[in-house]
Amino acid sequence: MGILEIKNVGKRFGGLQALSNVNLSVAENTVHAIIGPNGAGKSTLLNCLVGKLIPDSGSVMFDGQSVLGRAPYEINQMGISRVFQTPEIFGDLTVMENMMIPCFAKRDGAFELNALPSVRNQKDVVEHAMHMLEEMRMADKRHMHAAAMSRGDKRRLEIGMCLSQEPRLLLLDEPTAGMARADTNNTIDLLKQIKEERDITIAIIEHDMHVVFSLADRITVLAQGTPLVEDSPEKIKGHPKVREAYLGE
Ligand code: ADP
Ligand code: MG
Repeated sequence: MGILEIKNVGKRFGGLQALSNVNLSVAENTVHAIIGPNGAGKSTLLNCLVGKLIPDSGSVMFDGQSVLGRAPYEINQMGISRVFQTPEIFGDLTVMENMMIPCFAKRDGAFELNALPSVRNQKDVVEHAMHMLEEMRMADKRHMHAAAMSRGDKRRLEIGMCLSQEPRLLLLDEPTAGMARADTNNTIDLLKQIKEERDITIAIIEHDMHVVFSLADRITVLAQGTPLVEDSPEKIKGHPKVREAYLGE
């Protein structure tokens, strides 16, 4: 039994069957990559895991509990955190202020603006945020405006904001899309560090095969809404169907 068990998931948008018969098991404390051509249904599948979309059929179990029908914040509280395709940080705030937001949410549960008395009592939240910035190796950038950072550092901050929630499953949708090579390599190093230092399972959608083969323990190839093959990176590299469907050979 994997920490994440996806069974027979289907999702239709009008006349388009975006996902059909998706079966996928993600083992605990592994990095599982999902690859496949544009429009294969990768983001749709991720959206079904975090409550943004509800599948038409099938089941999604996280640690033995169904996520279906739960609101995104409930799924987050179950231990699933998601990094979006474009960084979702507050550009006008500093790096530290950005990091403090999820740290408040972690301490106080649902974050409500009228909960100001607890917001005033910040010491533990500041300590938690500093600790996270240190783990992300960006404490020296804490006074910077988030908008002024490189794409790689924005991604690093965003991943740190997710990790402050201590998720057991981290979902990443093309975390290196649009990045320069140096930023991509930094992101690979960061994810390797997280994999080593934390008790965490990572599911990553990624186009860049260098990233996939640097990180993944298992790879699922999705094509036209359904898994084509699932195997180890070594086997996937040589798989003729994969070469044909994905690498265009
Ligand atoms: P991928 O992430 O693998 O590139 P997506 O999951 O984004 O693919 O999309 C799969 C298919 O579903 C595509 O054909 C896309 O146009 C379609 N699609 C995705 N989201 C929606 C939506 N909200 N409404 C209608 N069609 C959608
Ligand atoms: Mg996508």
